[in-house]
Amino acid sequence: MSANEQEKAPARDDIRRVVKILQGVPAEDGAGVKLTRIIGTPELDMWDPFLLLDRFESDDPEDYIAGFPAHPHRGFETVTYLLAGRLRHKDSTGREGIIEPGGVQWMTAARGIVHSEMPEQVAGRLAGFQLWVNLPAEKKMSPPGYQEFSAEEIPLIRREPGVEIRVIAGTIAEGVSGPVKNVPVNPQYLDIGLKAGKIYCEPVTPDHAAFIYVIQGSVGVIADRGRDDITVASGRLALLGQGAQVQLCGETPDNRLLLISGMRLAEPVARSGPFVMNTRDEILQAFADYRSGRF
Ligand code: FE
Repeated sequence: MSANEQEKAPARDDIRRVVKILQGVPAEDGAGVKLTRIIGTPELDMWDPFLLLDRFESDDPEDYIAGFPAHPHRGFETVTYLLAGRLRHKDSTGREGIIEPGGVQWMTAARGIVHSEMPEQVAGRLAGFQLWVNLPAEKKMSPPGYQEFSAEEIPLIRREPGVEIRVIAGTIAEGVSGPVKNVPVNPQYLDIGLKAGKIYCEPVTPDHAAFIYVIQGSVGVIADRGRDDITVASGRLALLGQGAQVQLCGETPDNRLLLISGMRLAEPVARSGPFVMNTRDEILQAFADYRSGRF
């Protein structure tokens, strides 16, 4: 699906419907980390403003131990949300730290950063997500920056028994906001736990791009008063059409999903590997700047 088709996604009533369900493709990145690429594939090149979504999950160190040695980024933001294991990051601004389970690192690469992300473990399970969020043209060459929060710093709201929401970014119905702030696309990044039969409703800014990714169990997307419910199974991404709210239902005993939304930029995208700019010339400039050590 192209950005052009995304713009044409129909705006029907109030409740967001499923536009498409995707499974992603097996991929390798870094020095050979095995992962599933869900956005940034031939089937879904982007879901403006989201350029890439990877899920990594393995208890075999062979799948992750090589990590992501030093590599550059320019023109967007990388968001690492860890579910299990530990990742050490280190970068060209002199920062270094460890992301632990339930923690998020929201890195604004902007005009350029060189960083590494390496497993801080030699055995056990490593699991999480990396999302790439585009920056508007006017912010692509801003200074780089970081926002990093541990699991304890992320609000956990128990809306009712069987409905739990971790608010990483954006605001939920209770008025609780996540700790990640000042992101140009004004995103919502929620990690939601739903027990069987529990209904979950959340306002989402009507013209923002949105999707859910089911981590565990199976989730029903409720539309049109129950007549067009669609089940989204574990390991599937569901792109959502426009609307002012999302309505979901837990379908197995324990269900967990991400609900992510953000403002569409509707700007030209030129991308090559770790650089995402607006024009081909800006991409060539990024390679030249990186080669000559200007990051
Ligand atoms: Fe990176």
